[in-house]
Amino acid sequence: MTVPVLRFAPSPNGYLHLGHALSALANFDLARSMGGRLLLRLEDIDVSRCRPEYETAIYEDLAWLGIEWEQPVRRQSEHFDASLDALERLERRGLVFASFESRTEIQRLVEGREIHGAWPRDPDGAPLYPGNGRMLSAEERNRRMDAGDAYALRLMMDVAVAQAGPLDWFEAGEGPRGETGTVQAMPQAWGDVVLARKETPTSYHLAVVIDDALQGVTHVVRGQDLFWSTSVHRLLQRLLGLPAPVYQHHKLILGADGRKLAKSTRATALRELRHAGVTPADIRRGVGLP
Ligand code: GLU
Repeated sequence: MTVPVLRFAPSPNGYLHLGHALSALANFDLARSMGGRLLLRLEDIDVSRCRPEYETAIYEDLAWLGIEWEQPVRRQSEHFDASLDALERLERRGLVFASFESRTEIQRLVEGREIHGAWPRDPDGAPLYPGNGRMLSAEERNRRMDAGDAYALRLMMDVAVAQAGPLDWFEAGEGPRGETGTVQAMPQAWGDVVLARKETPTSYHLAVVIDDALQGVTHVVRGQDLFWSTSVHRLLQRLLGLPAPVYQHHKLILGADGRKLAKSTRATALRELRHAGVTPADIRRGVGLP
């Protein structure tokens, strides 16, 4: 029998809050109860927003909660080569195109389209890519890249979905609308997702599926805010020939305003709570764990 492998995968771009405590403790408890391993991975691909003091704070907060994880800790920024390799494989299959529109230009294009009715949005509420990147000739694309223009490499979603065929995943937790068990993946809801940018050779979606596979992760336990991203992850796993872990999404801890917690809110940062005299047992109770 294979030993279950779980991971907690925070981004060191702010202090951990109660929502992270729930994810980390749920991973730790499940790993313990299954006799599995718990890995820690730092999702630091956006190097401009990540800082060493946040990384140190992650170790302190997790240790304070009583969580033990295996060494070494994997830093995504040290493994860009694996993402580049995957990107090349997708490019060879004709599934990648470059887009050069800035965020403002995309916003303007969407406003133009919305004169004729609502433009589709992804599950996070962002408009689907409205630009004409696919129409650019190879010469034009190379000319703009050589000129140093900013670009994003995107997945041709409809072609990718057609190549991959129907996809699902096993949900051991539940989605925002109570989805559980076998869930149908709907990657097309995300449009032509970004796989990499000029300054960042990978995106969250690409890095997460590659690392989960390279680290042999068998169970992904994380918040419901990533429930629909799982559709994109399943698509990339199929296209790249990677195995599918079991997914277990948990409820989000909401702030007093009823919204998802943000890393910038001091009131729910674990280190603030610790300094205010809150105990790890209080945190467990507070996030609804035994
Ligand atoms: N790095 C992501 C976050 O901090 C979590 C990714 C995942 O668990 O798949 O929200």
